[in-house]
Amino acid sequence: MRALQITAANQVAVVDVPGQPIYDNDVRVRIDAIGLCGTDFALTTGTLGLNGWPVIPGHEVVGMVTESRSEQFHVGDPVALDPLISCGACPACRQGHPQWCAQVGVIGVVRHGGAREELVLAAHHWVRLPAAMPIETAVLVEPVHVVETVFQAVGPEFPTHALMIGSGALGLIILQVIQKRWPKCMVSVHDTVAQRLPHALKLGAIPWQLGTTDSVDLVIDGVGAESSLTMAAQAIRPGGHIVVYGVPKPGRTIPQADLLFRKNVRLTFSRLYTHQFDQAIAWLTSGLVTPQNIISDRLTLEQAATFLGEHGWNRPERWGKTIITMGSAS
Ligand SMILES: [Zn+2]
Ligand SMILES: [Zn+2]
Repeated sequence: MRALQITAANQVAVVDVPGQPIYDNDVRVRIDAIGLCGTDFALTTGTLGLNGWPVIPGHEVVGMVTESRSEQFHVGDPVALDPLISCGACPACRQGHPQWCAQVGVIGVVRHGGAREELVLAAHHWVRLPAAMPIETAVLVEPVHVVETVFQAVGPEFPTHALMIGSGALGLIILQVIQKRWPKCMVSVHDTVAQRLPHALKLGAIPWQLGTTDSVDLVIDGVGAESSLTMAAQAIRPGGHIVVYGVPKPGRTIPQADLLFRKNVRLTFSRLYTHQFDQAIAWLTSGLVTPQNIISDRLTLEQAATFLGEHGWNRPERWGKTIITMGSAS
């Protein structure tokens, strides 16, 4: 079967890989669509710090069950991948925090993922989707789960002014949720890629005025760089809350610690998520998040190889979520 494979730094190709055998409790899924995100790009360049090439990427994966050795799934079920790997037995796992497991990992990063025609995995790695959910909605289940976890980190706050740093696909999802959850909250947005901004502004955000200080209650940082945290430290009001979900590159340190301390700021990190995808699915079925303003590019497997290998995501016109649609998807 055809699969997308990262063979070395910036070397991506469509290759032929053998089909996987199926054992008890496994489910075979025909893949319909795969979302790409910063993790896949970092995996391609080798900046993730976890580069075990060759690897088949793909952790935002949806498809349909074609063979099941589990009583939980039947042929024809639409499913999404739960890519989180955790041991299930340690104290963190037993307390419902698999993202704190010492063995935590993500399928499509530390193991071969779903950028291929079909994928066999144990039943606990699949999440059943509502039958009527369109593929372009379903492929957002994993990113929306990331965002839902960010909002858990935010907690029961009612900010009147929020600053969003980074307005890629996750930023646009966050913006939709802020607007529905806190309709009176003003949302400022900053992105170093100027061409991305109009898409956030179209959804009602306003451009962040550089140099403004002490004016926002909440910063949601999707960049995780020293520059973004410096901006956050200046923007936040005393007693405010900064939530970082952007993945810092290895070796990054926290700048402005003195300022953050003097302002008595709460600084929270949001990494990964739990195995509970129900809320993300509910957010999509209820229309809290809609895919129309989030998906910007639809590629074939072959186009995705070029896109990843040539850093196509750096082009400003690639403003939102890029998805791979497989031939079998209609
Ligand atoms: Zn992702
Ligand atoms: Zn564990």
